Amino acid sequence: MIEVKGLYFSYKRKEVLSSIDIKVQDGEIVSIIGPNGSGKTTLLRCINKILKLKKGEILIGGQGLEHISLRKLSTLLGYVPQRETTSFPFTVFEIVLMGRRPYITWGVTEYDIEVVYETLRMLDLDSFSNRFFDELSGGERQRVLIARAFAQQPKALLLDEPTNSLDLKHQLEVFDIIRDIGKKKGVSIIYAIHDLHLAARFSERVIMLKNGRIFADGAPESVITAGNIRDVYGVEAYTDSNGGSFHIVPLRALKKEER
Ligand code: ADP
Repeated sequence: MIEVKGLYFSYKRKEVLSSIDIKVQDGEIVSIIGPNGSGKTTLLRCINKILKLKKGEILIGGQGLEHISLRKLSTLLGYVPQRETTSFPFTVFEIVLMGRRPYITWGVTEYDIEVVYETLRMLDLDSFSNRFFDELSGGERQRVLIARAFAQQPKALLLDEPTNSLDLKHQLEVFDIIRDIGKKKGVSIIYAIHDLHLAARFSERVIMLKNGRIFADGAPESVITAGNIRDVYGVEAYTDSNGGSFHIVPLRALKKEER
């Protein structure tokens, strides 16, 4: 379980997250939405201990983040950043094997290799294993970063815009796999996403941020409403959740004087 309690974060003097309280249960799938600059990436980076909180606390499995070593943390949390570059020509296989690093003490085991190959297969990357990471397309790289996080076999996964550069087929496939891992293995999933349809379709709960604060938190159809889209994004939209599927049709951006 991940608990964020009374979190505040600032970059220098600029407060970016305020009064954030979130509890995510094992196996729960939660999306974080909000306009550009609302604090989604910063929140994920605080939970992953990349950034240091100004105030508040974060507990992973009941233990305070400050008491968890980085090595231990990488067995608990897998983090998929929006993008990453390497300073050395690593192959896809080597990058995914890095996900096993927290488990490796005396050397890479057969099990580690097995996990890497299985993960590459799962993400449709088997034919890429000897390619250099820096020579792949944006979408292929994104799948490699997701594979590396899966290979960590963490208790929770944090994903920052995991499907931004993926084509339609891989978007759906990646989310199916993410949902499977959440449900079958009890892994908590938190993902930041721009696409409101993907948030509504693949998460059980949506957290909507506005200016670094939680504006709404609940079931997709109760959070992604025309009223909230208007208040948070400044966009007039039509939403419809009839027949088991959820549709959002953005109609127009509101003028300043209309907001
Ligand atoms: P989101 O992921 O929702 O687009 P971010 O968490 O990236 O939002 O950014 C939240 C706010 O923090 C924005 O106003 C952004 O300009 C600012 N910000 C992000 N990274 C930095 C940084 N390294 N230094 C200073 N300000 C930053």
